[in-house]
Parts: sequence; structure tokens; C-alpha cells
Amino acid sequence: MNMNKIVFSGLEEYSPEDLFRRLPSPSYVIDETQLECNGFCLLAVAERTGCKVLLAQKAFSNYNFYPLLEPYLAGTEASGLYEARLGKEEMGGKEVHVFCAAYREDEFDELLEYADHIVFNSPGQLKKLGERAKAQGKSIGLRVNPECSTQDGHDIYDPCAPGSRLGTTREQWNQEMTEDLISLLDGIHFHTLCEQNADALEVTMRAVEDKFGDILPRMKWVNLGGGHHITRHDYERSRLEELLLSIKKKWDVQVYLEPGEAVALNAGYLVSRVLDIVKNGETQIAILDASAACHMPDVLEMPYQPPIYNAAKQPDEGGQYQHRYRLAGPTCLAGDVIGDYYFPKELKAGDMVIFGDMAIYTTCKNNTFNGMPLPDIWSLGMQGRLEQVTAFGYQDFKTRLGRK
Ligand SMILES: *Cc1c(COP(=O)(O)O)cnc(C)c1O
Repeated sequence: MNMNKIVFSGLEEYSPEDLFRRLPSPSYVIDETQLECNGFCLLAVAERTGCKVLLAQKAFSNYNFYPLLEPYLAGTEASGLYEARLGKEEMGGKEVHVFCAAYREDEFDELLEYADHIVFNSPGQLKKLGERAKAQGKSIGLRVNPECSTQDGHDIYDPCAPGSRLGTTREQWNQEMTEDLISLLDGIHFHTLCEQNADALEVTMRAVEDKFGDILPRMKWVNLGGGHHITRHDYERSRLEELLLSIKKKWDVQVYLEPGEAVALNAGYLVSRVLDIVKNGETQIAILDASAACHMPDVLEMPYQPPIYNAAKQPDEGGQYQHRYRLAGPTCLAGDVIGDYYFPKELKAGDMVIFGDMAIYTTCKNNTFNGMPLPDIWSLGMQGRLEQVTAFGYQDFKTRLGRK
């Protein structure tokens, strides 16, 4: 498979340009067929290993699609009060887990109405709020930091980077975890991966066993966090399944996974159009009506370069993709650049540019910087059926900024 380009799921007989021609531009499109494929893949892992799979909502929280995902998942994972409430309200009454780096005391009672599992980040938070959660019958966990970095490149996504605030180190555990506090715990949680394969999870699990092996026999569950790219075509699912089975057997625990990306991987597109072509020396730049800064912020934050339908990130040997353009947004930010791509023909104003893998960390993370409109959200169903999920306008920009 050519990872340079988008592969459309189950739509071989359609030209995506024809399919998306009547959509307002820019628009996000959520691909129900791909979502369902991902759900099916995750359920298979759960059924073969007895692990439970949760949707980490911070990656994808388009709740209109929760009914489609619900049969495949055990529940949701939330980063705080609002996501916990959304999971409780919209994911068919399934399990709600929450992890937050620090809970607010004034929100905690409401949070307890929504969440089944509360994961604390530190002994201090556990001490302050653990009894209250336990009294409400909640399952209590502590996030640990195995201090085992398996990713290189982006420190911003590495919770094991030196000085990280995420998770309790063994040293801090030794200093602060009294027997009373330990006896509050039902499980431990770790989240250290980002877009990684099963080999990185093996290494991490070994580090957790090295550091916290004396605690694991007392736990009812272990939550392995997210960052597992389980639905990616080259993910080693059988290796993951072997590991999950061995953890369950060795420690007699319920295993949880809470992927975000893997649930909605490749299940969305951002349909945009070229507004203008400008030239600066040798560089040809296509200015789009979609912005990296506003509509795909991870392109700048992570950073990464999304796939584009019928374009390549590198010139190909056959010479089919040889027209190079730098794609950029219409905002005033000089760095609002998506990247350089090679197209089979020259681009002109009005041409459609379709980005792939746009369901995750997009609609839940976009913004109206520069007064940019938020793209509408559409669903792509069976037989290429398009339906508008939601539309945005001037009011969505204005109401975030002042009195109505
Ligand atoms: C971000 C996050 C996830 C999901 O990560 P993905 O990379 O989207 O799979 C799961 N759990 C926690 C605690 C997280 O912070």
C-alpha cells in the first residue's frame, strides 16, 4: 500500500471528487464504513483476549457516531468532567473511565455521577479525593510512570520524558504511598505510547513489571492507556493478543486498553479547495480554504503531514506525481503550512484537495483563530451516502468571545 496517499474504504467504485463535489468547502467527512471496520478489529482483539477496549474521547468525540461504535467497545475514557459526561450520556450507558492530571475539588462530586473508574495522577490527589470516590463505589486507580521512553522524536507526546508530570514514579511512590493509600487502589494505569506497535508495549510492560511488580498482585485491573495503533495495516495484532493474554494470566487482572487514534484511524477526510496559487522563487504555493493551524492543529503541533487523495509526499519514480506544491492555509500565520506534495497535474483555483486521516484530533481540537470558520461535519455512509451532521457559522466564532 502506498502510505503517501489516501485509501478510501469500500468506495473503489466512486471517485472521491465526484462524491464530495456538492459539499461546502471546507468540510470534514466521517467515514462510517472505516469506523465500523476499526470497531470490528478492536472487538476481535477484545474477544480473543478478554481485555476491554475504551474509546479515548480526546481523539474523537463526535458523539453522533457513538451508536455505531457502541457494539464494539466496552465504554469511554475521559480527560475530565465534560468528556466523562459526554461518554455517560452518549455511549449507551457503558463504562466511563476518567484520568485527569489534577481533579478540581469543586467538580469532583459531579464527576462521580458520571465516572465508574477514577484514575488519579499522584499520591497527593489520591489522598485528597480517593476516599470520597471509594465511598461512592468507584473503582480507583493510580497512574504510574514506568520511566521508559519508547518513542523518539516528539517529546510533547512522551509522558516518560524527563521531568514529566504524568504518572507517579517509583521514587515518589516509595516516599508517599502509605499502606492506607495502597489499600484504596483497585488498579494501576499507564499511558506512555503514541502511534506505536505491540513491540513498544512489550518493552513498556516489562518496565512496569520491573518497577511495580510487587504491587500488581494486589490489583484487580491494569489499564494500558492509549497510543496503540491497533487498526493500522502493519500493526502486529497477534503479538498484542499474546501479550494481553500473558498479562491477564500472570497477574490475574482485567486488562483495559483505551486507544483514541486506533478507533477512528483513517475514518475521516477534510475536503478543501484551492483559493489561489502564488509563487516565491522556485516554490509554488497553493493557498487553501482549510488551515493547518485551525482545522488540523496536530500538523503543526506533532508535527506530521497528512495523506492527500491523488497526491504524493515524494515525487514517484514513474514521474506520475511531479508537480510540487506547498499547501498552506489562508490565515496570517506564516507557519500555517501543511506541507509539500506532488500532484499529477497543475493545480488551479477551485480544485479540490482531499486530506485523509482527518477524524482524529481534528473536530475536537479545531479553533476559530483569525476568525476562520469551523468546517461543517458530514457523515459518509454505505453506498456513498452523505449526510450533514452539523453546520457552523459566524455565531460559533462570536459566542466564544463575548456577551451574547
Ligand atoms: C491520549 C490518551 C489516550 C489515547 O491516546 P491515542 O494516542 O489517541 O490512542 C488514552 N489514554 C490517555 C490517558 C491519554 O492521555
